[in-house]
Amino acid sequence: MKDEPAGIDCEVCGAPMVIKMGRYGKFMACSNFPNCTNTKPVQVEIGVPCPNCKDGQVVERRSKKGRLFYGCSNYPDCEFVSWDKPVAKPCPECDKMMVEKKIKDGVKYQCTNCTHAEVHQLEED
Ligand SMILES: [Zn+2]
Ligand SMILES: [Zn+2]
Ligand SMILES: [Zn+2]
Repeated sequence: MKDEPAGIDCEVCGAPMVIKMGRYGKFMACSNFPNCTNTKPVQVEIGVPCPNCKDGQVVERRSKKGRLFYGCSNYPDCEFVSWDKPVAKPCPECDKMMVEKKIKDGVKYQCTNCTHAEVHQLEED
């Protein structure tokens, strides 16, 4: 099986990075392995622009304990973080970011600034 190119070069040796599948999901590794063992996490964009810097994209990240959270693709220049998944649509009342919260039979969009919330029930198959 051929490795998928990651589209960036290794900052250690300059060889192209490739996408690998690991125990915790996809990651980038240097194609010069085993001579170079540089790896990087893959940034998964969720299609929501960063509400903090408006320039980056919200990406999935993992804490050292493996817990999923959301940060900015401009990190460390932008320190936006959220444990809840940001929603692409801004709050209709105050125009601030809304986040997705899991509820029993669907998801709830909850504004991070005001009390506005929307319930989206999952459709039964
Ligand atoms: Zn390398
Ligand atoms: Zn940002
Ligand atoms: Zn609001």
